[in-house]
Amino acid sequence: MEKRYCLECGEGFLGRIDKRFCCDACRNSYHNAISRQSKAYSYKINSILHRNHSILSESLQSGKLQLDRKEMEEKHFAARFHTASKRKPLRRTVYTCYDISYRIEGRKGVRILTDSK
Ligand SMILES: [Zn+2]
Repeated sequence: MEKRYCLECGEGFLGRIDKRFCCDACRNSYHNAISRQSKAYSYKINSILHRNHSILSESLQSGKLQLDRKEMEEKHFAARFHTASKRKPLRRTVYTCYDISYRIEGRKGVRILTDSK
């Protein structure tokens, strides 16, 4: 048995070479913290995706297919967050946010695509 140091509380303990925690409470606490961080990160990304989808959806429903830069900034549309992307030779990449596709057109902003091309 070698002296080891708990990853959670830093206390020294004796145990097998692969043992990383002094007790179950420390092991649980360590893994719960990792899980919390991971969930917080997912929540943040999902919120951005949902906001993007709402903006695209509202624009689409009002028959407006172009979102200019100013509008994107005002509404906090984050074009780099998407659920899929498809790069085509000699054409702009098509991004998809759930069921709505769009192209990023530089200064012109974002163009919502109504067909699947
Ligand atoms: Zn501990």
